[in-house]
Amino acid sequence: MNVILLAAPGAGKGTLSDLISSKYSLFHISTGDLLREELSKGSDLSNLIKDKMAKGELISNDIILELLKSNMKSDNGNYIFDGFPRNIDQAIMLDELLASRNMEIDYVIHITVNSEMLKKRIIGRVSCPNCKTIYNENFESQKPKLEGICDKCSSKLVHRSDDSAETFDFRYQTYLEETAPLIDYYSKLGKLVEVSNDSSKEETFDSIKRILEGEK
Ligand code: AMP
Repeated sequence: MNVILLAAPGAGKGTLSDLISSKYSLFHISTGDLLREELSKGSDLSNLIKDKMAKGELISNDIILELLKSNMKSDNGNYIFDGFPRNIDQAIMLDELLASRNMEIDYVIHITVNSEMLKKRIIGRVSCPNCKTIYNENFESQKPKLEGICDKCSSKLVHRSDDSAETFDFRYQTYLEETAPLIDYYSKLGKLVEVSNDSSKEETFDSIKRILEGEK
């Protein structure tokens, strides 16, 4: 099974991808995480992507395709794509890449959240640089037990530099212009399903499980 999570910034793609990939043993491919890894390694690539990422601009399709190819190691699929594709050209690239390996996308899950809520989530989001667990300081139920410390591995939590109110507006606009056309693209291919993540992640995950277990 190959799944894409399609959503605006702050909709909960990362958290939901973790839940889905554990439950269904899928390889989690987050292009945002792969790019952040390049930044933290200080690789040659990091100079090309640093400023764009800080501003919330999309990174070029060529760079994303290379990163993807070198991280898609499974020959028989079972991927969950999180934050990719971000535009129609990337969707076509993915179709071609999968077809060359006799694979295809089974489900594109479009996660919807109202835009006020998205901004509140983005501004409060903190994550663990070690085990990647995501928390949110703006929601009681998602705060870590000790402020600034990961519940799971006690590392110091970090706030992503692109998770500011100003950058959110730009990222959201980029989402509307570049990524939202994918809703129509996958809908026409009969692959799109819509799930609201306005309430709890548990409820959203339950809806996703029902879809992936047969109720397309
Ligand atoms: P994310 O973690 O998915 O919110 O991505 C963080 C940032 O990484 C984005 O604002 C973009 O600058 C960059 N990025 C992540 N995925 C892609 C992609 N598929 N195409 C282009 N840029 C991306």
